[in-house]
Amino acid sequence: MIPVIALVGRPNVGKSTMFNRLTRSRDAIVANYSGLTRDRKYGEVQLDDHRFILIDTGGISGEEEGIDTVMAGQSLQAIEEADIVLFMVSARDGLTAADYMIAKELRQRGKKTYLVANKIDGMDPDIALAPFYELGLGEVFATTATHGRGVKSMVESVLEQI
Ligand code: GDP
Ligand code: MG
Repeated sequence: MIPVIALVGRPNVGKSTMFNRLTRSRDAIVANYSGLTRDRKYGEVQLDDHRFILIDTGGISGEEEGIDTVMAGQSLQAIEEADIVLFMVSARDGLTAADYMIAKELRQRGKKTYLVANKIDGMDPDIALAPFYELGLGEVFATTATHGRGVKSMVESVLEQI
């Protein structure tokens, strides 16, 4: 089975930029993959020898009322469908309350989750990444989705662990 990876995180952290970079706008032929519905944005990624389905989501603000609402809708469905979640945060914005809420939800769901601190461009990685370790999700992968820095090595590390 081809692995399915979902991009999750609050709005404006760079999920769609990451999606477009990885898929290069190749749309997945969703009909070929059973279990996936058509109402989310799927792409097929081919990176060297690796192939996987990537799901873009609209984002969770973390400010919705009630935990059910936070994880409701398409983001929740994407998480359920995925083998792996890439939880994206913004190195530029630092750690936010919404990030905490999303991290807590993801941990409770027990889905394999990797933390990706995007927008690392122009930042000192040691300083910018440190706060995110508090989320308790292990290694923090640093990326610049707009230029691709760190993206390939992050994906390779994640796929190695499937
Ligand atoms: P989404 O809401 O999580 O899907 O975020 P988008 O992909 O739409 O990106 C939101 C904004 O952040 C856009 O203006 C992007 O160009 C910008 N952006 C995305 N990735 C990066 C990055 O790595 N560095 C910087 N500086 N800006 C980025
Ligand atoms: Mg988006």
